[in-house]
Amino acid sequence: TYTEINNPVKLAHLIIKERIDKNIRACDMTAGNGKDSEFILKNLNPRMLYSFDIQKKAMENTKNLIGSCPNFKFILDSHDNIDKYIYEKIDLFIFNLGYLPRGDKSITTNYKTVIRALKKSLKLLNHNGLIIICVYPGHESGRLEGEFLEEFMENLDQKIYQVIKYDFLNQVNNPPYLISLRKL
Ligand code: SAM
Repeated sequence: TYTEINNPVKLAHLIIKERIDKNIRACDMTAGNGKDSEFILKNLNPRMLYSFDIQKKAMENTKNLIGSCPNFKFILDSHDNIDKYIYEKIDLFIFNLGYLPRGDKSITTNYKTVIRALKKSLKLLNHNGLIIICVYPGHESGRLEGEFLEEFMENLDQKIYQVIKYDFLNQVNNPPYLISLRKL
């Protein structure tokens, strides 16, 4: 079968499916409505998935979508507090930035907490592990996130991390794009 790649979330899922071994530990750093968490649980059957969000609505939506599942834990807290909850190595992090789809658009991720969360994620990332970040530069806080993330990530040591930006070149209005990082 052929998956048409017309948005970065599809691309993120494809990369995750292709490049991550099964039996992993994963973190969804922005659970939202739970679609990414559901994708990870269905396709990778991880040993454990931790999903963070700061909104009760996101927690409800994600839990409703997923149901009861022994290898899934929702954490109602900001992703930059990850070090309060997780002490084991993680193979996959996904950040899908911005606001809750069909939710309160005034509550969005922001570059300060995202960069802090990313730095902590790098410490927890297993060898050969993957961090996938979907950036939405079409709104102001998304544009800032993109700028700060790129500045931070383009300065990471290439002997330790492979960082790739996947961008749609001929779409108007600052389309979303993807950054993937693999620890070598
Ligand atoms: N992955 C989700 C899905 O598949 O439905 C979409 C995520 S949505 C674009 C972004 C989410 O990030 C929102 O639900 C928002 O509440 C959450 N968020 C914002 N700031 C956060 C923070 N500091 N820590 C964790 N989640 C945060």
